[in-house]
Amino acid sequence: MRLGIIGGGQLARMLALAARPLGIDCVVVEPTEAPPATSVASVIRAAFDDPVALSTLASTCDVVTVELEAVPISGLDWLSERVVVRPSAAAVAVAADRLLEKQLFRSLGVTTAPFDEEVVDVPAIVKSRRGGFDGRGNRLVRTVDELAAARVALPDPIVEGLVSFVREVSIVCARSTDGALACWPVVENLHERGILRRTTALDPDALTQAAAVSIARRVAERLEYVGVLAIELFELADGSLVANEMAPRVHNSGHWTIEGAHTSQFEQHIRAVCGLPLGDPSLREPTVMLNAVGRMPAALPVLDVPGAHLHDYNKAPRPGRKVGHVSVTASTRELLDRRVTELVAHVPFET
Ligand code: AMP
Repeated sequence: MRLGIIGGGQLARMLALAARPLGIDCVVVEPTEAPPATSVASVIRAAFDDPVALSTLASTCDVVTVELEAVPISGLDWLSERVVVRPSAAAVAVAADRLLEKQLFRSLGVTTAPFDEEVVDVPAIVKSRRGGFDGRGNRLVRTVDELAAARVALPDPIVEGLVSFVREVSIVCARSTDGALACWPVVENLHERGILRRTTALDPDALTQAAAVSIARRVAERLEYVGVLAIELFELADGSLVANEMAPRVHNSGHWTIEGAHTSQFEQHIRAVCGLPLGDPSLREPTVMLNAVGRMPAALPVLDVPGAHLHDYNKAPRPGRKVGHVSVTASTRELLDRRVTELVAHVPFET
């Protein structure tokens, strides 16, 4: 079997690595030179909507998927007429647009931040509807003048009221071709300067898990979704959840699943989009994932910590760039905390 992936970054790399034991070969379309997926997949160096590249995917692949949402939907539509595309172009289009996402959440009874005309006061956050990631394309505004300036400066802006949350969490789930849904435990995400620094996966609180699964189920079913879907949420002081955004793909807050869950998000996505049964998403052990930003850590001190695993994306170092991650597992929360404390000093976060 051959799987086409639009995008050749670290997510494609980890997908291709997970596909290999299943006997599935991957081919990626990626415009940049020597992308992270290079050594583990065939690479077609072309724009995401290059007609020749897409027609090669259509004629040589059994299924095509995406590793990013910022893809021209017209290209995915074109592909869908010629080859199985999962998740669908329509689902990717919704998840790529902050306004459509919010409208979908609301239509399903899922709470979101107030947005656009509902926002009557500053401070607020102005975001680009499309294309923002790692905090880029967002601007916190504290005065009416700043709000007006941000509305002009950011392309296709949406204004959001500030949510006073106690923590940021996410639910990552997978839906199969026969409609089965498998959700990993809700995880806690810590951001620094707009970039994910740390994800913590523990046995989740049952009520929080049930609420997040209910949101994931409603979204995945409405979109007739196939593949891995991530939803970022704000948890309020009363325990209720507010949906922030979703990603129609494997997600940074799911990287911990490689070592921490019985089935990783990467294997699960492959299974789902290839029409195979889903694996068990449950927690193996409490796990923390730390992003390496700017440059890779030295391997020695990281691998010296029991339970630690290093993932190098094969990317050139650059401030603000996610170049790898470290996961660490432990049998108890206390031991995990000790190992994380030891590791944090060694894992760069240079923005
Ligand atoms: P986003 O690009 O939507 O993921 O936003 C980046 C980060 O900004 C989030 O992880 C939050 O820490 C913060 N943020 C985004 N939207 C809001 C909001 N409406 N209220 C408060 N904080 C927010």
